[in-house]
Amino acid sequence: MTEAKFIHMNGTLVPYADAKVHIQSPGMKFGIGVFEGVRGYWNAKREQMFVFRLQEHLDRLQFSMRVMRMDHDLTNDRLTEATLEVIRANEFRADIHLRPFAWVDGQGDMLATGPVAWSIAAVARPRSKLTEGVSCAVSSWRRISDTAMPPRVKASGNYINSRLGAQQSQLDGYDTVLMLTEQGRVAESYGSCFFMIRNGRPVTPNVTSSILESITRATLIDLLQEMTGREVEQRDIDRTELYDAEEAFLCGSSYEVQPILSIDRLDVGTGQVGALTRRLQQRYFDLVYGETNEHSDWLTPVYGAR
Ligand code: PMP
Repeated sequence: MTEAKFIHMNGTLVPYADAKVHIQSPGMKFGIGVFEGVRGYWNAKREQMFVFRLQEHLDRLQFSMRVMRMDHDLTNDRLTEATLEVIRANEFRADIHLRPFAWVDGQGDMLATGPVAWSIAAVARPRSKLTEGVSCAVSSWRRISDTAMPPRVKASGNYINSRLGAQQSQLDGYDTVLMLTEQGRVAESYGSCFFMIRNGRPVTPNVTSSILESITRATLIDLLQEMTGREVEQRDIDRTELYDAEEAFLCGSSYEVQPILSIDRLDVGTGQVGALTRRLQQRYFDLVYGETNEHSDWLTPVYGAR
């Protein structure tokens, strides 16, 4: 990962190398922290950086802090201001990844609700290299559930489950993973949500399928409806439906729109990037880079007058 000049930490800009956390903090010891992954896209023609769906990410961060019962007085306005400050201070003129993070600091125990420390890191990160498609394995690791570790909360500890699934699939020679719910329905990948086109219809697991309520998923549901004129089905998906899909893809702020070419070594459709997936990818990139004025309310411009 590329370094940057500054990180925003507890309300001030600090040099990147100085953004440190104490080993005894509950955030470190027990993983009591919540975070977001947000993208900023640089439009060279317009000489502008656009942060994609920042408010939705900050709303989700607030929700995560609420469920984790973290005592804080952070507002979305303060977090927005800090996000813009850290991008401007680093003078980024390329695509970036932003990491807002809040954790329980101090020397408390597992139940400590504060003090809450926070940071916003921004690093240069080009578009995902995997937009040409990935191979995917259904994992023997099950996705965590709302009855134990809610996947809807973007908490650090949840990523132990993601790591188990993703590492196993990569050791087994696949690019990525699909995890099933405790009930054996399709949930999501380790940092992205799942869509397939089956019998011509776009389908995605519903929000009660042990998934993070992905902002990209919500974006693509809107775009697919606009593009195809039909509702995206949000429902339970069985494993064997995966083997009958015409197209499939993963989506997330980091992974963008990532076509799946095979699942468990069975080709998805023709084994090439599907036509609708390709069109959707294009439309997504047009939007996030501010190449079109549609849905411009999803973009926060960084430089110049807001
Ligand atoms: N699922 C998981 C487990 C994730 O970590 C992410 C990335 N935040 C996603 C899905 C995609 O979410 P989003 O579109 O909001 O980035």
